[in-house]
Amino acid sequence: MTASTFRNYIAGEWVAGATVTVNRNPSDVSDVIGEYAQADAAQAGAAIAAAKQAFPAWATGSIQERANILDRAGNEILARKDELGRLLSREEGKTLPEGVGEAMRAGNIFKFFAGEVLRTGGEKIPSVRPGVDVEVTREPLGVIGLITPWNFPIAIPAWKLAPALAYGNTVVMKPADLVPGCAWALADILARAGLPAGVFNLVMGRGSVVGEAMVAHPDVAGLSFTGSVATGRGIAAKAIARMAKVQLEMGGKNPLVVLDDADLATAVNCAVQGAYFSTGQRCTASSRLIVTEGIHDRFVAAVKDKLAALKVDDALAPGTDLGPVVDQSQLDTDLSYIEVGRGEGAKLAFGGERLGKAKEGYYLAPALFTEATNAMRIAREEIFGPVAAVIRAKNYDEALAIANDTPFGLCSGIVTNSLKHAAHFKRHAEAGMVMVNLPTAGVDYHVPFGGRKGSSYGPREQGRYAAEFYTVVKTAYIAP
Ligand code: NDP
Repeated sequence: MTASTFRNYIAGEWVAGATVTVNRNPSDVSDVIGEYAQADAAQAGAAIAAAKQAFPAWATGSIQERANILDRAGNEILARKDELGRLLSREEGKTLPEGVGEAMRAGNIFKFFAGEVLRTGGEKIPSVRPGVDVEVTREPLGVIGLITPWNFPIAIPAWKLAPALAYGNTVVMKPADLVPGCAWALADILARAGLPAGVFNLVMGRGSVVGEAMVAHPDVAGLSFTGSVATGRGIAAKAIARMAKVQLEMGGKNPLVVLDDADLATAVNCAVQGAYFSTGQRCTASSRLIVTEGIHDRFVAAVKDKLAALKVDDALAPGTDLGPVVDQSQLDTDLSYIEVGRGEGAKLAFGGERLGKAKEGYYLAPALFTEATNAMRIAREEIFGPVAAVIRAKNYDEALAIANDTPFGLCSGIVTNSLKHAAHFKRHAEAGMVMVNLPTAGVDYHVPFGGRKGSSYGPREQGRYAAEFYTVVKTAYIAP
């Protein structure tokens, strides 16, 4: 631990961790972003205790103060979007425009929830008993544990934190070990925005240590998690065993259906942007491209041309379209799935090889499989890299059946000029979100986000619907 180590934030103090981790740039592994504290289970406990102590005053305090703090945080994030976007791209590897866009999204989320603080109304319902009034109101849950992944290092912390605080909860947040920089920057902004001590606590460290301690702790009333299916299932089992409220956002194997009548340029844009941008490391990435016979060959040829024109390079370099994969372990996973796909009989039509660049980083050429079937592992399991598989379909009905034949259900897309098929798809896609003539990845910040089946569990995130998780409903009966 040195004087320059970025520390945890517990009970309004910056505290050294039990150990440290070194945050490195995946575009250039010799570039060290900083040394970050790693909490242990005892520090997680101290953060939970601080949040518990701060809860009553925050839950019942001035909503104007809450709104002002969230608005101040949002304004600072927006004012510093270029710097924060740069930090994000440097630690996670998405391109600078994507990093800046994500920082803006985080700022806008804080500003949205600053407004929501003042709009948390209730309902007055006539009672079946004359003379009695019934009121339905929302109250905060208590201490909320937030466990966030590496692929959206500022937006996901923001979209959990802002509603948690807005609705009057106190928070302990554990960001992914790979990307502590943006979470620390957010903590620094919130600390200066005027939050009372203990209302927000940052504990950086391993999921197996800090995360487990949060999940097990009886004073954590709710847990909101985004990450892998296996970790999410484990968290849910433990949280539910002690009757804690839990919200999970997990993987996707999102289909993009392309019909014969689609505009080819729109289809190619949706496929390339949805499957490969942000290096394919998005839970909403369209990793299954389900294409009907009449357009199949033209579509594959045009996607290959587009991929050949993409520049894979340093995330911060001007003109880069795709940055590196986040780390060696994710790169190994991507490369192993490329071998799996070949072994299963799919044809590697483009890319899939590791790329050498001027600086040592985790660069991978975007990979396109064709002649894939929906039964293959590359079509069933989330890879979480720049890898997509084209699956042929005879017609719309078969394409829809293939799209829905998956353990996941986050986002489903279709590219078509047929109103009939678009309307039918919107109704019958088994997913939490549906896109027509748009990429599956890329959603608004003020409307519900979440999926069905193995993708999500519990209430939706974002927009007004976030209240479902971060509050508990009270029904009050009043007789004069
Ligand atoms: P994980 O699910 O392992 O991690 C997500 C978060 O959970 C991290 O903060 C992690 O901590 C924490 N965590 C890990 N184990 C536990 C535990 N036992 N108890 C409590 N918290 C825990 O995902 P990864 O980041 O390792 O990514 C692995 C795969 O997950 C990816 O390849 C991808 O398939 C999928 N993924 C999906 C995302 C999505 O949005 N759908 C987002 C990110 C990943 P830490 O990492 O710091 O140890």
